[in-house]
Amino acid sequence: MNVLIVDCLGAGSTGRRFSTLDVIGAGPRLVAGVIESLGHRVDLATCDAVIRDPESLKDLDVLMVSGMSSDLRSMARVVRSWDRGPAVAGGPSAVNYVELINSGFTHVVWGEAELCIDKLLRHFQDRLSITEVPNIVFKRGQRVIKNPGPSYTPTELLWRSTPSTKLVTRYDYWWCARVYVEVVRGCSNYYRPTLPLADGRRCTECMKCREGGLWSRLNCPLNIPPGCGYCSVPALYGPARSRPIDSIVKEVSELIKIGVKRIVLSAPDFLDYGRDWLVYPAPLTDPRYPPPNLQAIQELLERLTEVSEVSSREVYIMIENVKPNLVNEKVARILGMYLRGTTVHLGLETGCNKHHIVLGRPSTVDEVLRAASLLAKEGLRPYVYVIHGLPGESKKTIKETIKVVKKLPDLGVEKITLYRFTPLKGTAFEGFSRPPPAVKSRARKLYYTIRRINYVSKKKLVGQVLRAVGVATKAGDALIAYTLPHGPVIKVLTESPEVFIGKTLEVVITRVLSDRAVEGRIKAVLN
Ligand code: SF4
Repeated sequence: MNVLIVDCLGAGSTGRRFSTLDVIGAGPRLVAGVIESLGHRVDLATCDAVIRDPESLKDLDVLMVSGMSSDLRSMARVVRSWDRGPAVAGGPSAVNYVELINSGFTHVVWGEAELCIDKLLRHFQDRLSITEVPNIVFKRGQRVIKNPGPSYTPTELLWRSTPSTKLVTRYDYWWCARVYVEVVRGCSNYYRPTLPLADGRRCTECMKCREGGLWSRLNCPLNIPPGCGYCSVPALYGPARSRPIDSIVKEVSELIKIGVKRIVLSAPDFLDYGRDWLVYPAPLTDPRYPPPNLQAIQELLERLTEVSEVSSREVYIMIENVKPNLVNEKVARILGMYLRGTTVHLGLETGCNKHHIVLGRPSTVDEVLRAASLLAKEGLRPYVYVIHGLPGESKKTIKETIKVVKKLPDLGVEKITLYRFTPLKGTAFEGFSRPPPAVKSRARKLYYTIRRINYVSKKKLVGQVLRAVGVATKAGDALIAYTLPHGPVIKVLTESPEVFIGKTLEVVITRVLSDRAVEGRIKAVLN
């Protein structure tokens, strides 16, 4: 069969990505790899490209569209351009399966593609009964039906196919983008929120999900979904399972051969890497114990550093998130040995310890502060997330959060990102209302505090020389450059910006444009 995967991740309602333009997620390439391994023809396109040219859908047998809950409108625009066969939605947006079916998709893949893609394609090609396809959502008459299936793919079946590497070139700016390579699927946090849910359920504090055995943590007697109340990862993708080192090194090496320069080892928590191997065959459903598998982490980073382009720093390897409670001196030292100068993300979300517990978070405020400080001391550049409008937020929690975020710059935190809580379907916090934007809410002071901190942090860059890659021109007299390995977007003033596209540059930062962008001039062209 001839399958096209359309990547709508981050496309929002417009079909175009405005933030995180330089990110290429792992999911669509992974699904492409699974389909390739089944012997079908598969291609990949961005949402923007398909909306601009719906003719690109002409010769297909199956359309597959990946997105998040915030991308439903773009996904609907894509599916409206296609009326000739099966249209399958997937990715984190699957929790909105009713809306997806109502917007024109014929099927929605719930959770991991590995569990159902083979049978779904056989359903399309060989008329295998749809009842035999696990975890698939479809419409029969007026009813939306969700087939039952396993809640996650067992480790021994998970990593059989490798994500497609050649299709990375379908993305704009792939050569300078941060390309995500999956190293851990799922999350080890099977704690649940203890605050009353929108439907009236309230944790009875049986402590099964916090103190029970690893198997028993999978299920809550009240069916409260696992994980932090605002996050859909454990419910959709199961407990943390690590990818074998050889498979990661193979994918990274292939991407480097193609010309990719920035690679992010993607994981809801990088420090879960190899922790599941320590408890196998039990599922890793404890976010705190056992401690990180330092041997596995070091071996992975060592093997990646042996790739010549990585050791010569022509190619950068970064990690995504870490759970603050898993960071200790040894962990920070090993990460510093291999990842010095790169960013690492820590979730604070709220500055109130009681709030952490009722949200289902595994770490404390002090653990976040300690993790930031340890990582920064070892040469990493911590970025911290905060969320406003969460259930359980009060004037008191906001006040405490403001106090905590003010401490972060002194600990070496380079940037704080404030997100607005979004109640995702399929999570414990489904049914709560979405708060107003921070500037119009009680979190206004928190918003301005974070903005000021980020602005001051950018001011420290003035006079410094940053390495960057030229990406595009702006208004004819400026070059847009991405900081290497990662950092603020730089507007580079130059008379001939087009000459520097694709070049690695040294840029002297001359002023701060906003809490996200800086301006500079070229000091040297490196290649
Ligand atoms: S969330 Fe469920 S499993 Fe966890 S302590 Fe509460 S009732 Fe028990």
